[in-house]
Amino acid sequence: MYAVARVTEAECTAEKGCRLCIAACPEPNTINYDFNKKVAVVHEQRCKGCELCVPACQVQKCISMIHL
Ligand code: SF4
Ligand code: SF4
Repeated sequence: MYAVARVTEAECTAEKGCRLCIAACPEPNTINYDFNKKVAVVHEQRCKGCELCVPACQVQKCISMIHL
């Protein structure tokens, strides 16, 4: 079983400047700000499932670990 992070786009406040998950992720280029969608987006194939982004996000239930 392998889990990756996923952002619930409707909850994400990245448009207002939040980048906490991006700063917390140790994997390069894995969570990025999507300038079109105006939310943080996880590159699932890069995500190592470390879950560091989950507590970094201050919006409840905005980032979830999804089992693939
Ligand atoms: S689970 Fe870890 S590797 Fe994956 S996006 Fe979150 S911080 Fe990055
Ligand atoms: S920490 Fe949460 S609210 Fe902030 S950019 Fe990441 S997913 Fe969005």
